[in-house]
Amino acid sequence: MPRDNALNDTSDTVLLLGSEDVPPVREYNEAGSSPFLLTCDHYGRLIPRALGDLGLPASELTRHIAWDIGIAGVAEVLSRHLDAHLIVQRYSRLVIDCNRPPHVASSIPLISEATTIPGNEGISRDVAKMRRAEIFDPYHRRIDEIIDQRRHRGLPTVLVSLHSFTPIYAGIRRPWHIGTLYHRDTHLAPLVLKHLRAEPDLVVGDNEPYAVSDETDYTIPVHAEARGLMNTGIEIRQDLIGDQAGEQSWADRLARIFGEIEPVLRAERLI
Ligand SMILES: [Zn+2]
Repeated sequence: MPRDNALNDTSDTVLLLGSEDVPPVREYNEAGSSPFLLTCDHYGRLIPRALGDLGLPASELTRHIAWDIGIAGVAEVLSRHLDAHLIVQRYSRLVIDCNRPPHVASSIPLISEATTIPGNEGISRDVAKMRRAEIFDPYHRRIDEIIDQRRHRGLPTVLVSLHSFTPIYAGIRRPWHIGTLYHRDTHLAPLVLKHLRAEPDLVVGDNEPYAVSDETDYTIPVHAEARGLMNTGIEIRQDLIGDQAGEQSWADRLARIFGEIEPVLRAERLI
């Protein structure tokens, strides 16, 4: 269960993250030359020490409700292969979901799939604000800065938001191996879909298992759509990237596909 000291004291001097907690943001390949900027909102499953285990057994904290299983390895290898800047957020989505607008109920979920999150019950507005200020805001502020810096340096930015999905959700088996997620950008996702569908062994989701919306997403609407940047979400099924070999082969495949897409975007003068 959460420790009381940090949770109940709402004065400005109390911080959520202590000296033993790592910063939420981590970056890879910051000098990467690729037009693709990779983000990973659900990269990690850390919990700030002050929040204990959120009242959950370890078996729940390693499930998909806590993070996007397998995507960390895919993202890191893909970043190297594409020479692309990757920015990730290391705390669990159960602490605060970095791909939800902070005002929606699922930002700090009381329930995820069928699991109640005791450590999220009855928290004050100030405690919620602290999670936002120390985890959500630094991550999104840094993405903003990166895009600003790239613009000032004359580098194009195409946002690729990396996620993974559980093979069975609420008892329903999902048939797709991979899906593209998009809303307002009509350039990138169709190209990615075309290339993925040319792979003979894949069942490809078109805005499946999720579609991007302003209520259920944050990274794509705020950082890409609001700035007019091309973008797509990528969702990979978690059983395919459950070990290092799976992560590697999916990163190899995506690097090949995005490597084929980049010259197409250049030829069409989209970047
Ligand atoms: Zn995700």
